[in-house]
Amino acid sequence: MSEVRNVIIIGSGPAGYTAGLYNARAMLNPLMFGGYMSGGQLMLTTDIENFPGYPEGISGAEMMMQLRQQAEKFGLEVHDKDVSKVDFSSSPFTVTVEGEEYKSHAVIISTGAEAIWLGAENEDAQKGRGISVCATCDGAFFRDQEVLVIGGGDSAMEEATFLTRFASKVTIIHRREVFRASKVMLDRAKTHPKIEMKMHRQVKTWLSDDNGLTGAILEDPRDGSTEEIGVTGAFIAIGHKPITKFLDGQVETDESGYIVAKEHTMTSVPGVFAAGDVVDTRYRQAITAAGMGCQAAIDVEHWLENNIHN
Ligand code: NAP
Repeated sequence: MSEVRNVIIIGSGPAGYTAGLYNARAMLNPLMFGGYMSGGQLMLTTDIENFPGYPEGISGAEMMMQLRQQAEKFGLEVHDKDVSKVDFSSSPFTVTVEGEEYKSHAVIISTGAEAIWLGAENEDAQKGRGISVCATCDGAFFRDQEVLVIGGGDSAMEEATFLTRFASKVTIIHRREVFRASKVMLDRAKTHPKIEMKMHRQVKTWLSDDNGLTGAILEDPRDGSTEEIGVTGAFIAIGHKPITKFLDGQVETDESGYIVAKEHTMTSVPGVFAAGDVVDTRYRQAITAAGMGCQAAIDVEHWLENNIHN
């Protein structure tokens, strides 16, 4: 049987790296599977200006590299590979990666969540070049510009209202007439002088030139009629999906797939912990994910002391 690790961390965003740093400094010899696209959602953002300690801002990719270097310095072992399945039915747990099985007494799940993109024509080319899925991250880059927000839920209303701090005009488009957003957030957006709402519209094609986004062709789903809108920024706010499919239902999740924390950061399976956006339906910030990663690492230390190494 292969060596049994103290802790395997699955996922390499700020939650995972922070957990790795803490567990490495506690001499737990943690092993991380960071995914083929390690670094998480922040690899997609431009400058991060709201993480304390970086007065000049820092690019998402650079921050992830630094978090990784710091954790590796203290002994975190990172493999940029995806976990295909887990078996939490017996202890030690089994984590399968590229057909190979790894055993561990504890596991931290920090696989994050991914924003749902629209998948409209020309979208991939404009991701990070005018089209964003995070107003908190990228809103300040659109000072005095006209921007589009797509969605009819609380996220769309919140993003649109936040964007009015920077943008000269915010147009919300929603594909139907009924909104999922709560009344208070909808009313706040509806009555804001900088916000215009257009119902029965969805993005058919993103328009761009060498400098980035220039607008979009909008389509009315009822009759297929189209119109063009000129914007230099667009924020897709149609929801997030947590990355929990590989767990195959072994850990309790809510109806949207987010892991439910049972006792501090511990999940429904004792010895399995979760941190960051994979549990967080509310804050979804790098700093909150990092904080939760720290909490999970400390919870793992205590759990190992009380259950394995006692
Ligand atoms: P949501 O409530 O599921 O709303 C998603 C919206 O996107 C819906 O209006 C949906 O339209 C639209 N949409 C989905 N797929 C689309 C597509 N392919 N093309 C065009 N539109 C599409 O998601 P959310 O707004 O992210 O909110 C998620 C949860 O977090 C909610 O429980 C919400 O209350 C909560 N939240 C709370 C706050 C807050 O309280 N401060 C802030 C943000 C989020 P349809 O309605 O037509 O399906």
